[in-house]
Amino acid sequence: MPRLTHLECTRCGEHFPADRPQTVCPKDAGILYARYDLDTIKRTFSSARLSGRAPTMWRYDAVLPEADPVSLGEGFTPMLPSREYPNVFIKDEGVNPTGSFKARGLSAAVTMAKHFGLKKLAIPSAGNAAGALAAYAAAASVEAHIFMPQDVPIANRIECDYYGARVTLVDGNISDCARKVAELKEKDNWATEGWFDVSTTKEPYRVEGKKTMGYEVAEQLGWKMPQGIIYPTGGGVGLLGMWKAFDEMEQLEWIGDQRPKMVCVQSSGCAPIVKAWDEGKSTSEVWPNAATLASGLRVPKPYGDYLILSILKKSHGTALAVTDEEILAATRHWARNEGIFAAPEGGAALAAYRKLRANGFFKPEDTVVLFNTGTGLKYLDVLDADASVARAPSPAKPAATKPGPRHIGGIIGPY
Ligand SMILES: [Zn+2]
Repeated sequence: MPRLTHLECTRCGEHFPADRPQTVCPKDAGILYARYDLDTIKRTFSSARLSGRAPTMWRYDAVLPEADPVSLGEGFTPMLPSREYPNVFIKDEGVNPTGSFKARGLSAAVTMAKHFGLKKLAIPSAGNAAGALAAYAAAASVEAHIFMPQDVPIANRIECDYYGARVTLVDGNISDCARKVAELKEKDNWATEGWFDVSTTKEPYRVEGKKTMGYEVAEQLGWKMPQGIIYPTGGGVGLLGMWKAFDEMEQLEWIGDQRPKMVCVQSSGCAPIVKAWDEGKSTSEVWPNAATLASGLRVPKPYGDYLILSILKKSHGTALAVTDEEILAATRHWARNEGIFAAPEGGAALAAYRKLRANGFFKPEDTVVLFNTGTGLKYLDVLDADASVARAPSPAKPAATKPGPRHIGGIIGPY
């Protein structure tokens, strides 16, 4: 019997075969989760057998699909003790290939796409997911077709070009890009030419890649769960993946039934999960005119919102928003005090931790893991514009040097 036994809808529980490409549940558009024969895995593999394995996310292949991995060395990123706060750890995803945590999900998704013989992978994206898809597609010798708004961060556009991806710059926002992919799907050659849509949570394996962050948190903390995890949440796939990993590890008896409080941090310029959480709702509403310089958080309605909100509730976690000013200050603070040049999304995690310490949600003795989801090097245009404002607040040159908000809306993400 294969390790990966079937896919299961997270809404209706219906099972689907895992031996062919799948998207979402045909009945209710629910996200499909990969399910494994955990009883057999428990008997044949133990956490002790991980030691000495390659320091990549594929060290956990016992709980990943059987396929030849398309790997660039992603995962097993450093868990750095904070120099500033005892009991705080910074999980630095910026050292992944392509400079962000997106490498994990797209390593897994491209691995499975190649396994199924798919040829042309399409993605609407305005950021790090595009770069990651482009890199893994190059490594797998499949085509990456990327649909990006014209005003994407320059690093993402250049890396996609160098990786040889087919980039279409769209006059519009991420929703218009998603529409381009939808138009492609209507064409007769979609199936015959081996096209596939690897949009966030629209296929089952990006979550599988992201779940390895949960396995790493446990392994790197000696199989003890922290009291909290603060996760910058755009599409929230990492949050879903980690929670799935904790459930799997409990069934494997690698951990007990303790769970960290899962904390979702968003930008006050785009905080649909925070709003839904504050209002006690089980799904989010589209955030109008989403605008934040932390482009990974610019997801006006995450597709997996119902799962994110349920996890926050089950884990006794919370959701909170921080301003772009707080994000930039925290990003700079981390660079100066920890030696970590984080993505602005990572800075948001620090800003959130400070607030949650101040209001008593976390105590000084609580072990808390803050996720930095990417490297600041991917955001030089945004961060340099901010620095020039800080250096020369000349009245002759008012806010013109500050980056204008990108009004990138839509339900697709994270980018
Ligand atoms: Zn369903």
